[in-house]
Amino acid sequence: MLCLGIESTAHTLGIGIVNEKGTVLANEKSTFTTDKGGIHPSKAAQHHVLMYPFVLDRTLKAAKIQLKDVGIVAFSQGPGLGACLRTGAVAARSLASLLKVPLIGVNHCIAHIEIGKLTSGFKDPITLYVSGANTQILALASGRYRVFGETLDIGVGNFLDVIGRAMNMGFPAGPTIDKLAKKSKTYIELPYTIKGMDFAFSGIQTKVEQLVQSGKHETEDLCFSAQETVFAELTEATERAIAHINKKEILLTGGVAANSRLQEMLKIMSKERGVKFAVVPMSLAGDNGAMIAWQGILEHRAGYKMDDSRVEQNWRTDDVDVNWI
Ligand code: AMP
Ligand code: MG
Repeated sequence: MLCLGIESTAHTLGIGIVNEKGTVLANEKSTFTTDKGGIHPSKAAQHHVLMYPFVLDRTLKAAKIQLKDVGIVAFSQGPGLGACLRTGAVAARSLASLLKVPLIGVNHCIAHIEIGKLTSGFKDPITLYVSGANTQILALASGRYRVFGETLDIGVGNFLDVIGRAMNMGFPAGPTIDKLAKKSKTYIELPYTIKGMDFAFSGIQTKVEQLVQSGKHETEDLCFSAQETVFAELTEATERAIAHINKKEILLTGGVAANSRLQEMLKIMSKERGVKFAVVPMSLAGDNGAMIAWQGILEHRAGYKMDDSRVEQNWRTDDVDVNWI
């Protein structure tokens, strides 16, 4: 059975094909980017509509299959930007009805976790899920992915993108900041906000913006200092979670998981704690269709039947009953 998964929660339109064993046959995407400024939801949605036929065509070619070979259609039902979510939902509904196959709406955040478990082989990790809009520390407890810690304001990717915008970088700024931070070792003091296993970034954002405006600092030093601060918060909170919850694996997933310094900090902490550590592969770190397809396979296998395909912009990770494990 092949599942076609459609991702469209925010900046990326992704379409992936995954089989029942979890082999990724194709994982194509088109990402809405800017040279200056952030993502405008309606412009991103328009991008998804325009790119859909091309990405679909590329996906089928890459997987070497035809549309009629698809047995399940899955899509990101939420959380995300309403306009963007609806483009994927419309595409998925029409494909499923055309092919007369089951339609499965999946939670985007959970798909980020499950694809990391698939690739790492981890069975029961503490997951640090870091993306543009979401930043959470999650672990399975009593049938749900419970949120043990999370951002009290913005996602860490969003933090990087916003300070990047202040430094004249386009969207996404995370990869540029990652690169520039490597050129510095000069730490500029920034606020550090952590409460138990929760953390916050907006105060740090304001401070970095003020430092940029002062014109007194090198961009590399600001990138280095921002990364050191927010990644230390994330590592500290994850370490606290591993100390309190009886798990033996730490999984890093989501778009910001691509960051080399965050990976390094977590690797060191995991080693010191004597727990296993894994990062989702780069091709599956940022938003993508393959993770949605794999989540579709898992839920279909568990007998899930969809009764309402409306999108859910604010769908929480801990609202979903995990009945596929
Ligand atoms: P997602 O929403 O999961 O696709 O993640 C997108 C976010 O990941 C954006 O905010 C990007 O700036 C961020 N990102 C991508 N690559 C990197 C990187 N190497 N370092 C830091 N952030 C990154
Ligand atoms: Mg995401």
